[in-house]
Amino acid sequence: MATLLTHDTTAKSSHQGPTTTVYEKGLQVGSNINRITKIETFRVRPRWLFVRVETSKGIVGWGEATLEGHSEAVEGAFADFRERFIGWDAANIEDIYQSAYRHRFYRGGEVLMSALSGLDIALWDIKGKTLGVPVWELLGGKVRERANVYGWIGGDRPSDVLEQAKARKEQGFTAVKMNAVESLGWLDSPHALEATVERLKDVKSVGIDVGLDFHGRVHKTLAKQLAAALEPHKPLFIEEPLLPGQVPEMEKLYRKTNIPIALGERLFTRQDVRPYFEAGCIDIIQPDISHAGGISETRRIANMAETYDIGVAPHCPLGPIAFAASLQIAYSTPNFLICEMSWKMHYNAGDFDLFTFLKNPEVFEVKNGAVEILTGPGLGIELDEELIRKNAEENKDFSWRNPTWRGPDGGIREW
Ligand SMILES: [Mg+2]
Repeated sequence: MATLLTHDTTAKSSHQGPTTTVYEKGLQVGSNINRITKIETFRVRPRWLFVRVETSKGIVGWGEATLEGHSEAVEGAFADFRERFIGWDAANIEDIYQSAYRHRFYRGGEVLMSALSGLDIALWDIKGKTLGVPVWELLGGKVRERANVYGWIGGDRPSDVLEQAKARKEQGFTAVKMNAVESLGWLDSPHALEATVERLKDVKSVGIDVGLDFHGRVHKTLAKQLAAALEPHKPLFIEEPLLPGQVPEMEKLYRKTNIPIALGERLFTRQDVRPYFEAGCIDIIQPDISHAGGISETRRIANMAETYDIGVAPHCPLGPIAFAASLQIAYSTPNFLICEMSWKMHYNAGDFDLFTFLKNPEVFEVKNGAVEILTGPGLGIELDEELIRKNAEENKDFSWRNPTWRGPDGGIREW
């Protein structure tokens, strides 16, 4: 008969229970420990949350925990991380991941997972810098020399997409993504869908591929009509055709269309993606490395997807740290397809764009629709810390918020 283990009998402690003084600072072996000494967050324009982790050996790792519109909530989660992980061995990424995920009883969700993502990415950066190798080396080595990327056109309320598509092509892109629709009612006029088809035809006339983001704005009554109207014009994929949580409805939509279906930016763990994989109702999973448990869990989601013949297209309308981390997955993951890139996207208006905080922006150059493999240690990017600190200080009271939309009847609509 199995014995129920109620406490860790191997740990030396003066008190009973599963948590002992031996493990207060995590797993630690030997004397050459590179301890976490500082964890900082920086809220910077246009809407990003950067994470800086420093160690006792003077190594600095950077992560990104951007959760658009909810920076304050993620910053709150970091108060707990500071209390817990200062003094832990930065080398033990998985032990820290497990503790962050499991030791506070509540787990998952966009807030806690985004904080964990930022910490995890910074720890991988530290490990790479400590060993003098890119993160992709630590993930098993490269499986490709460059990563396909796509840019954005059209903004929240898509228009002038033809000119923007030409501009993206000039920049080196061979694929773009745009919003499929503006705000829609639960049951809107079918005429509201006609402009979407015209925009898709316009952009394809430039000779580039287009993914269409439904953004969860479309309910199933219109989603099936829109998919049918788009199908003859062969979009690269349709994204979030229904809101997260609609697994059986997605399964029915999947059977109605041959357009590849992508989603995943609002799913955060293997547990979250599992029902979609098992239902066989998607072709492409889009984990966002700033929300889906960083490099550790994104990689695991990608591996899990491979067994279902599902490709991985990291979601990344965010900052340079998230993009560099996503590329590390791209270079080392066989079922990687294409990565989102926020260069010149509509949220990066003004002086702040993907390259603003980088000292080596040339590493993100887009040629023939792809970014060459990053070869620097860790994430392979050099950040302008002085500028980050200055921007965070100037913007400490700034909080980016998404627009809130209501229809002509006053009712709330999805953004
Ligand atoms: Mg999307």
